[in-house]
Amino acid sequence: MLQALIFDVDGTLAETEELHRAAFNEAFAAAGLDWQWDQALYAELLAVTGGKERMAYFQQRTGLTPALSPAEIATLHADKTARYAARVNAGGLELRPGVRRLLAEATHAGLKLAIATTTSRPNVDALLKAAAPLPAFDVIAAGDEVAAKKPAPDIFLAALRDLGLPASACIAFEDTANGLASARGAGLRCVVTCSAYGGTGPFAGASAVVSHLGDADTPATLLNGPALPCGIADLRWLSALAKEG
Ligand SMILES: [Mg+2]
Repeated sequence: MLQALIFDVDGTLAETEELHRAAFNEAFAAAGLDWQWDQALYAELLAVTGGKERMAYFQQRTGLTPALSPAEIATLHADKTARYAARVNAGGLELRPGVRRLLAEATHAGLKLAIATTTSRPNVDALLKAAAPLPAFDVIAAGDEVAAKKPAPDIFLAALRDLGLPASACIAFEDTANGLASARGAGLRCVVTCSAYGGTGPFAGASAVVSHLGDADTPATLLNGPALPCGIADLRWLSALAKEG
């Protein structure tokens, strides 16, 4: 029986990546670094999950000097995180269509809500605060809580552990192939909601692929899959499918 929904954050709850990109570029400039990430480059760099990991990869790939130490990257990342939070607090984000509706429906139906994300916990807190009022999330698994980030399954396994539920009782929501692989690796059924930076798939292994979760004003488009997973009844149906095979 379906008992919980587990959400990715960036690209799934909200289109956050442009704010992240702007915050990275601000932090680079403030640190006197001649780094600028445009949209095309950032789309490539998003293949690396985790902000610190992304900066380390970029530095290694470009061979830019002076090389930053892990400690310097951590400091730079902390500054970026603060700049991102400031932008979110200033009202720079909205939840994606259908997110608020589905969270409310899930709570009403007695389902638990969880987050499993590679983004830092302060980023999650800033988004949830800016989007308030929202139903409370029972579990938030975020950032450096696990060593191996997505596409490794660890962060979803951490969320399942904290929920005290088996994967068969939950459905994950993701927007990228890395996220989908992470959820599937944890044994979860996964609905993909396509996003600006999340790629176009084909998202093999997803239970369904949709444009977004949809609501009355903004109907979702089903791109691939057996059902339009907009409501709790659809999700219960997907969950029952999971048990059968
Ligand atoms: Mg995402």
